[in-house]
Amino acid sequence: MMRRAVLVCAVAAVVSGAHGTARTPALAPDYPTAPAPLTSVTFSDAFWAPRLETVRTVTLDATFRQSELTGRIKNFEIAGGDAAGEFCSRYAFDDSDVYKIIEGASYALEVRPDSTLDGYVDALIAKIAKAQEPDGYLYTARTIAPSRPMAMAGKERWSNLEHSHELYNLGHLYEAAAAHYRATGKKTLLAVATKSADLVARTFGPAGLRYPPGHQEIEIGLVRLYRVAGDPKYLALAKFFLDERGNPAGHKLYGEYAQDHKPVVEQDEAVGHSVRAAYMYSAMADVSALTGDARYVAALDRLWDDVVLRKLYLTGGIGATGAWEGFGPAYDLPNSAYAETCASIANALWNFRMFLLKQDARYIDVYERAIYNAMLSGISLKGDTFFYPNPLLSLGQHERSPWFACACCPSNLPRFMLSIPSHAYAVSGDRAFVNLFVQGQARLALSAGEVRLEQQTRYPWDGDIRIRVSPSKPGPFTLAVRVPGWSMDHPVPGNLYRSLVRGREPVTLRLNGLLVPIRLERGFAVITREWSVGDTVDLHLPMPVRRVVAHDAVKADEGRVAVERGPLVYTAEFVDNGGRVTNLILDDEAPLSPGWRPDLLNGVMTVTGNATALRMRNGSAAAETGPLTLIPYYAWAHRGKGEMAVWLARRADRARPAPEPTLASSARASSSEGGKSLQGLNEQYEPTDSNDHTAMYFHWWPKKDSTEWVQYDFPAAATVSESSVYWFDDTGQGGCRVPRNWRILYKRGERWVPVETRDTYGLAKDAYNTVRFSHVNTTALRLEVGLPEAFSSGIQEWKVKQP
Ligand SMILES: [Zn+2]
Repeated sequence: MMRRAVLVCAVAAVVSGAHGTARTPALAPDYPTAPAPLTSVTFSDAFWAPRLETVRTVTLDATFRQSELTGRIKNFEIAGGDAAGEFCSRYAFDDSDVYKIIEGASYALEVRPDSTLDGYVDALIAKIAKAQEPDGYLYTARTIAPSRPMAMAGKERWSNLEHSHELYNLGHLYEAAAAHYRATGKKTLLAVATKSADLVARTFGPAGLRYPPGHQEIEIGLVRLYRVAGDPKYLALAKFFLDERGNPAGHKLYGEYAQDHKPVVEQDEAVGHSVRAAYMYSAMADVSALTGDARYVAALDRLWDDVVLRKLYLTGGIGATGAWEGFGPAYDLPNSAYAETCASIANALWNFRMFLLKQDARYIDVYERAIYNAMLSGISLKGDTFFYPNPLLSLGQHERSPWFACACCPSNLPRFMLSIPSHAYAVSGDRAFVNLFVQGQARLALSAGEVRLEQQTRYPWDGDIRIRVSPSKPGPFTLAVRVPGWSMDHPVPGNLYRSLVRGREPVTLRLNGLLVPIRLERGFAVITREWSVGDTVDLHLPMPVRRVVAHDAVKADEGRVAVERGPLVYTAEFVDNGGRVTNLILDDEAPLSPGWRPDLLNGVMTVTGNATALRMRNGSAAAETGPLTLIPYYAWAHRGKGEMAVWLARRADRARPAPEPTLASSARASSSEGGKSLQGLNEQYEPTDSNDHTAMYFHWWPKKDSTEWVQYDFPAAATVSESSVYWFDDTGQGGCRVPRNWRILYKRGERWVPVETRDTYGLAKDAYNTVRFSHVNTTALRLEVGLPEAFSSGIQEWKVKQP
């Protein structure tokens, strides 16, 4: 709980390669691979096309509306002199949400004209332009009242870069400006961006300020601005900000949290805040592509190995801990997982850039895993509610929300999702890459001429893909079709996860109906030949239900198994499985089969079979076999709150038998004002320690130094003689400690009376503190605590016992 003092959001950019329009200036070398222009790809499938349409018609509107309701847009009006008042949202980085949604809206406009959206964005840009100070400075948290800026803004401009997000906001502005210009040809936002970047370039540099931003993002934005505006000083500035990280000659280092512990080219371990990290890695790839500096790539190779071999969730999410929204130690992948939606996006953006650098399919394997699972879990099927963290295990405490005070994730989704079509295909010389399998079309400009590719497939539900090739003129070129690692029983590159059963059926490739040998080059099946209109390529990816286990060093997944089919990770949710899933054991030999359910969750392939359920009966665990239903992970949490688990027990000792009802579990829980997550008191989950974040825990945060209580009201008067409490204490991560003192009271008539006991009211961590007392017959019991002076307190579990 109680996360970080400095909450930070973020996200990266969409790559705009050397493709594009006549407006793009001629630049020095770039990536050897160019993504497909957004306007050249059409999705017409039943999976992505409707989701992207929902983003266009629902999510953009919902997130713009939330930006209005929460004062994010009014901040620009006040700063521009069109409204009166104080900075009226919560964080100094709130400007960035508006920029990000404009970027998403720009992709929507690039693909399909929409005069209402276009007009709305124009009006917004006018407000942003007015909020910009005459010299180019743009940061509403200061401009609104320069003599008393927000605390995190710092007293003077650029004086608190570790926390202010002044440069972070601008990175998102630059990305939005580049996208808006490309989509509409209008220079309105681009003019704001270049004026701002010119000020930053005058202010920062070897002869000026040498502070890198606390939160990376401006580096990516500057690269995009460079690609659009052509001014090399923007690229130089992006490189400067990267190179100043870890350089104590220029500033007091911010440390690992912000990847500022050593120079970026010397980094070899993914540490700290995961969104910052993956934005930085993305920028390193960009700058390396544009400058030819291979030292960045050498560092990226080491960092990528560290993430993919040791720190990647099966869902493609990154970031194990909420305490710093970031990476934990190697193999430390608790299923309470932070896996922030923004971090999945950043991970996908980074891996896409690695593909552009190296033309290796393993990066698209990671990209695909992230977008079909961890990222997509972040947004509801209706497109108007969101997850910030995306855990792989829930005890029922999670549900999507329409917005967050720190709204980085909702504002990041539209811009990322609407750019997915441009990642599906890529071009390098006379080579056309098919990265993703989505029914639809693409027009690609090869050096040999334009070629039209048409995909027919039901992917991700089915692994048959037909690609019809139509070159504008007959001639030789290479088609490179990705063969996903999962189809060859390698769920991820490396050995962090492995398939339990090796593939029974091979991947096959046909050319005009005839089987051809697969020639794999860096994970792509390549076919070089004289193509003519109507040639077809059929790729068959066997899609059995696959069981996956984790590396032995991943303690959280020891004795557990996960289920996948194609690119999708599956999960068990309470609603399909008799109310619970943590009590299930999935035997390695139990058959599992897929089945199409058009009525469920907008249409999903479920996986069904049998599992053993453990239930406590008269004090011992009884096993019974029953049906098991799994759904794709991305679709969880649409049917109420309850248990969900991606990793199911393979062995009885890893299952948690469904407990028998107790007096506590049947009681109605309540608390003094400010208490949160009451169900954590009596949900009967046995915590492993006081700092166990998997369990639901009750807490009073941010209350301190006061007397508080929790209360059980029993269904009928009961005789009680014992109380056991397991304190929540998140020392090292948050602000909860064991209380100063506590006692038990019972209800006698209308009064609360302390129970009679000789036992000590214990304050031990990582254990139950039990107090036996003289029997009382009562309808309600209270546990009263004195909160510490400087901390709050919480409770993992509170049990009561009858004599
Ligand atoms: Zn986020």
